[in-house]
This record gives sequence, C-alpha cells and structure tokens, in this order.
Amino acid sequence: MSKFNIDGKDIEFKPGQTIIEAARDNGIEIPHFCWHPKLSVSGNCRMCLVEVEKMPKLVIACSTVAAEGMVVRMDSDKAISARNAVMEFFLINHPLDCPICDEAGECKLQDYAYQHGTGESRFVEEKVHKDKRVELGPNVMFDGERCISCSRCIRFCDEIAKDPELTFVKRGDRVTITTYPGEQLDNPYSMNVVDICPVGALTNRDFRFKARVWDMAYTNTICNGCARGCNIEVWTRNNEVLRLVPRYNEQVNSYWMCDHGRLNTFKFINAGDRVDGPHIRVDGSLIKVGWDEAYAKAASQLKSFSKDEIAILGSAYATVEDNFIAARFAKSVIGTGNLDFARHINPAFGDDILKNEDVTPNSKGAELAGVLPSKSGLDYNGIIKAIREGKIKALIILEDDILNDSPEFESIFSKLDLLIISASNFNKTSAVADIVFPAATYAEKNGTFVNFAGRVQRIRPAVATLDVDRALEGMSMSRLDKFGTKYDRWAQGKHFDARSSWKILVGLASALGQKLKYNMAEEVFYDISNSIEGFKGLDYDVLGEAGAQLKSVNSKSTVKI
Ligand code: SF4
Ligand code: SF4
Repeated sequence: MSKFNIDGKDIEFKPGQTIIEAARDNGIEIPHFCWHPKLSVSGNCRMCLVEVEKMPKLVIACSTVAAEGMVVRMDSDKAISARNAVMEFFLINHPLDCPICDEAGECKLQDYAYQHGTGESRFVEEKVHKDKRVELGPNVMFDGERCISCSRCIRFCDEIAKDPELTFVKRGDRVTITTYPGEQLDNPYSMNVVDICPVGALTNRDFRFKARVWDMAYTNTICNGCARGCNIEVWTRNNEVLRLVPRYNEQVNSYWMCDHGRLNTFKFINAGDRVDGPHIRVDGSLIKVGWDEAYAKAASQLKSFSKDEIAILGSAYATVEDNFIAARFAKSVIGTGNLDFARHINPAFGDDILKNEDVTPNSKGAELAGVLPSKSGLDYNGIIKAIREGKIKALIILEDDILNDSPEFESIFSKLDLLIISASNFNKTSAVADIVFPAATYAEKNGTFVNFAGRVQRIRPAVATLDVDRALEGMSMSRLDKFGTKYDRWAQGKHFDARSSWKILVGLASALGQKLKYNMAEEVFYDISNSIEGFKGLDYDVLGEAGAQLKSVNSKSTVKI
C-alpha cells in the first residue's frame, strides 16, 4: 500500500484519498469545519491548511489528493500560524454567546478556539449583527450571527436529502444562509443539519434550551420508528429522555436519521399516560394492583378456557427476546398454535433514503423468534375472524395497540371473554382490556431488534424502571458496564413500575404453574442463539455497537447514502 508522512509518521493511504481522509483512517484528525466524510468537498473554511514539502503555499488537506512519499506538516510554524489566523478570522464576528448556546459543550468552534486559537482578539470594532432567531422550518431554528458559512447544511439538503432548500445570500461579512423564496427547510431529514452544523447556528426547535449537554448522559440504542433500525443515542437527564441523535453505522443509516424517528419515538416514554404498575378491570374500570394479584387473576381466568379458545399476538414493536418467550409461552405453557403478530405497513412512509414502509422495528425478529401459527393454528386474520365468530374467547397481546388498526375492532374485541395485554401507555386497546401489564419501552430494557435487511442490533436501557433498578442493585461496576449503561445517572427522576414483556410472560407462566427460567434478557438471547439457526454464535458482546448481519436472511439493504 502507498504511504506518505504526516508530522514524522508514515501512514498508508488508498489511491484517490485526500490527505484529510487518509489521516482520519489512521486516527489523525486534521482540524476542519466544512469538510464532512459524506458530503462533497467545498474547501471554504480553510481550517485544514497544512504544509506540504515542495509545494510553494499551504494547501487544504480536504481537497489535496495524497501521493506516494508526500511529506505533510500540521505542526510546522507556518501551519500553526495559518490555523491561528483562520480561528481569529472566524471569531471576529462570532457573538461568543456560549453561555446561552445549545451547542456549547459539543461545538467545534469552541473546541478549536481552545486548541488552535491565540486566546485573545485584536478586533475592537463593532461586530456585524444578523438575525438571531430565524425559523428555517418547523424543526430547525437559525442564528445568523453564529454561522461560519461552512455550507454543510446546504450540501446536506442538496446531496443527501435530495431537496435543495437552502442557499447562501449576500457577500463578505454579510453572507448568510436562507431558504429559497417560498420554501421552508422541511424535508423529512431536515434535522440532520443541526447535527452537522459545526457551531450553534442551527438548533433543534424541540430540544432548544431544555438542557446543557454536560448535565446529560447518553445510551447507544436503536430507533423504533421503522424497520430500518437507525443507530441512535438516547440523551437523558434525571431519567427523562430529552433528545435522540443519530449514531454512525455505515451498514444501516450512515450518519443520519429521519425527523419522524427523531421527534416521534421518545415522548411517550415520559408521558403522563404511562401504565405505571399492573391494572385489572373491576366494575368497568381499570384499577392498579400488585404484580402477584394481577398474575393470579390472569392465571385463574386463563385456566377456564380450552387451549384452542386462547390466542396470542406477539409484537413487531417488542424485542426478539419478548417474542421468543411469547412463542415458548404459547406452545409450552398454553399449548396453543393460535399465534401471530400484526404487521404495520405504510407504503406512504417509505422512501429510498432511510425510511422503511414497515413502521415497526422488529417484524423480521418476531418471525425469526417463532411468533407464527402452528400448522393447525390460526394466523392474525384467522384469530380476528375466530374472535368475531366467538371461537377465540381469550386473547393475550404484547405491546401493540391493535384497536387502533381498524374501527371495526372495538366491536369485534368486545366479544372476547378475556383480554390480557402488555402496554407501555394506556391506549385504545387497554380501554377494553381486562388485565393490563405495564410494559417497559424500548428505552427501558435490554434486547435486540432485527431490521428489514436481517441485521440484529442491541437496544439498551437509557431510562430506569423500578425493575431495572432492582436488577442492577448490587451489581459490580464492570458488570454494569457490560449491561451497557451507567447506574449513577439514575439517582433522580420518575421510575415507572414496568417490565419487559418477556419477563411479564415468565411471571404469568409461573402463576400458571410452569417455570420459564430466565432472569435477564441476556439469558433469553443465549437460548435464542442456541436454538434458532441464523443466530448461532451470537451473544450481546458479539453484537457490540454495530450489530451483526444474519446470514440466514436473504435481504438486500438499500443504503444509498
Ligand atoms: S448554518 Fe451551520 S452548517 Fe449551515 S453554513 Fe452556517 S455554520 Fe455551516
Ligand atoms: S428511518 Fe426509521 S429507524 Fe431511521 S430514524 Fe427514521 S423512523 Fe427511525
């Protein structure tokens, strides 16, 4: 492989790579604002100026192609002085309003001012003032004074979202960005510009001024908004989720996520309508009871039906672990083959960037976990038909507001003698249920989802429930690290009394006199990897941060970004 030298170190590069790309692949960061690995090169910020032996002037590393034997210096007096000058130039008109800026703590300008600035300004004139609160679109606010004109946001809209909505106007120190006349920044991926803006010029209107980032913690997990399974970070403070941001995974979502996922997949977690503890229906109303009482009631009622009168619906919103136990529960505890789950397909939601028409995170995982009817059992449509005909009298549903799917379902489900559900929030289905078990959300449990292309990925608890607290009590710090989260962040905030659906079924099996011996999601996954062909050899450590592709799933990913 070809090599060049940077600050005395020989590094390898691939043909055609620029200096900045080759350095990055070798763990060396050349300071930059406008360059982004997934956008075209604009070369306008000049922060990546480096000295190259035998070249008469400094060159920008983002657009200079590496060559065999090249000698590059970031640490020469000329290169350092150029970076000092670029920083001084950027800070001339910058408002330096870090104390009230959302970006503070994760701002490139702030970091580079420390690393590459001189620490003082020679500028004594009045700074140029620009609009500080421009609603570029429904989700993004623009502060013209903070903008350093890097053009990342413009290039993102043109090249990734394929919706050119932004442009520069004016010149020199008056230059600013704006939307084209009559346009708004409202493409389905618009909020990614907030992530890639290197300063606090573009802010998330939903998260703005809610928290300082150093007061928050984040957990790596997966978006549950559709079958793409975008890798995300869930950011929390005091056990409350305040924002989601994308996490890089080249196999799934690159650096991006859609606005729908970012805005609509976390507010239910801390909503006022959470099912906080088990509930049973008494005289027409749901009342809160203890776990043992709810299990005993569910078990005694289930015992009054024959196995053919009972059906179970797993869930494409629940984890592989939840669905695996649902299949076990149906087959070995109840003995019914009436087992399936509802598919939620919305062709209007899908696109050819990230959004998938399957608006659930784990339909592939529910199928692979065995939530399918036996040969003589009923599938989803058969179960609904049998309820209407009075042949199915008891139904268990995991984590799916099925009544929302059809206006007819309310009258059909009223024919049931017993409806037991697990749900995170009260909803249309809980309104007709006899027993409601509180389900932990995807942000409150360990487990796995399988995306549409057959990639198994880990979800982790970012928010503690009483159950997670109990499970973690007394765990060593190294074990907590393996669990994928930090305990100390959970000292304050609301802890809902909710459990993973697999755990709810384990408790119900026990009340029915059958033991399913699992205490942790990891143990369930261990059994999955030992009993389901495609999962062989996998465990939570092997899945790591990026997940693993199931060889048994013959599905092509359509990542084009
Ligand atoms: S708003 Fe941010 S991303 Fe857009 S040009 Fe200005 S600094 Fe760059
Ligand atoms: S594309 Fe799907 S998985 Fe990705 S952020 Fe959007 S809703 Fe979530």
